[in-house]
Order: sequence, then structure tokens, then C-alpha cells
Amino acid sequence: MDMPVVNSCQVDACAYNDQHTCHALAITVGNSSSHAQCDTFFDADVQGGDPGHVGHVGACKMGDCQHNVQLECQAPAIAVGLQQTQADCLTYAPA
Ligand code: SF4
Repeated sequence: MDMPVVNSCQVDACAYNDQHTCHALAITVGNSSSHAQCDTFFDADVQGGDPGHVGHVGACKMGDCQHNVQLECQAPAIAVGLQQTQADCLTYAPA
């Protein structure tokens, strides 16, 4: 399995975000039963992640998503953005 890339992230308040790009080495999605939230979101004044690296999806707990295989994301790529006030995976597609 390959880890999908986080193609874009619109959550500017996150420490791992720089110009709509995620720079966390790997994010985790889905630590909420009600929505596909980015669990790696972190509101801090420091810049996080590796500026030379674009984030990938390390794990996803949304087992009901069409792209989820054995709790790993197998979408070609994902997008993250705000759903109301939450940083959520916008590629989440309930089967
Ligand atoms: S995908 Fe998650 S960790 Fe990466 S910048 Fe967006 S909110 Fe932050």
C-alpha cells in the first residue's frame, strides 16, 4: 500500500499548513465517530512539519469510506478543508 498525498489543505490555522499545503509527514484521519476529522490538526504558533515534504495520509479510521481498505486510505489523493469549524477530509465518501 502507498500513502495518499494530501493534495491541498485549506486549514490555514494549522501549524503544519503553509500556503494551503500540508507539511506533516503523515496525518491521521477519523478519530471522531461523526465526521472525518484531521486528527493531526494543531493550532500553534510554531511552524510544524518538513517544508520540503508534502503531507500524506498515514492512517484513516473511517472504515465506511469507499477509499478505506483495512483502515488505510487508498484514495489517489485527498483534500482537507473546513467543514463548519472542523478540519475534515473532504475526500471522505461513505459507501
Ligand atoms: S491536513 Fe491536517 S495536519 Fe495537515 S495542514 Fe491540514 S489540518 Fe494540518
